[in-house]
Amino acid sequence: MKYHLPALLLLLVLATPCAQAAPLQAIQGDVLEVHLTAQVARPTLQCLGKTWPVMAAADQHGWRGWIGIDMKTRPGDHTCRWQSPATELDIPLHIEPGKFRISRITVKKSMAEFDAATLARIRREVQALKATYRMHVDASPPVAMQLMPVKGVESTPFGAQRYVNGEPRSPHSGIDIATAEGTPVQAPLAGRILYVAHMYLNGNTVVIGHGHGLVSVLSHLADTRVQEGDRVQTGDIIGTVGQTGRATGPHLHWSIRFQEARVNPHRLLALGHTKP
Ligand SMILES: [Zn+2]
Repeated sequence: MKYHLPALLLLLVLATPCAQAAPLQAIQGDVLEVHLTAQVARPTLQCLGKTWPVMAAADQHGWRGWIGIDMKTRPGDHTCRWQSPATELDIPLHIEPGKFRISRITVKKSMAEFDAATLARIRREVQALKATYRMHVDASPPVAMQLMPVKGVESTPFGAQRYVNGEPRSPHSGIDIATAEGTPVQAPLAGRILYVAHMYLNGNTVVIGHGHGLVSVLSHLADTRVQEGDRVQTGDIIGTVGQTGRATGPHLHWSIRFQEARVNPHRLLALGHTKP
């Protein structure tokens, strides 16, 4: 008789309340895919104060879930937990600080110092953008990006500490990809268009909700080719590369929120490329 040993061990471990799984390692901005290879009723996955998406594993043997680690999550030790009516399984999670570089840009004064009316506009736009991170979108795709929205040179990486005209600003929450103005921008994953706007700092912006609390923000577009409410498939053209808003040259800014956590697009692309 043959036993599948790891699954058997895990089942034994699950029989004990508050058992522990193998520890996870991550860095700030990571997205982790975790597996529960046990035949239990649909579990929940809790980590860093949030509940994360869970789907049945492709082979129907257990479950898989995804955890997003915000770029500013406290480095050190945390505990995640699988929970189902019958069992609890703790997963120790160790987070290392991200190795983020410094990015300095120089822009004209109107893009660095704002009068009261402009400041009010920027705040309104930020609130509208943030509201999209919490919108519900029905979706079936797993948590992974299928393609880069444009090909080009990555001019500012994820997490870079930004200095604008010498003043420290929020860290860079996405990646900048420099390429020719007018280059078509593709949806990196299927979803629904949640927001299309001309924003003061982000310029022409399209937000795609992919479901599971996963949201792509695509900014500085020359023009947009979609409307709020549209459904898009992976690869659909949503606009073209430009330099609208606060930009020092034509590029696409692509940032991703996962349950509001600021995560590195490259981590989600890597998950997309490891799938069968
Ligand atoms: Zn950017």
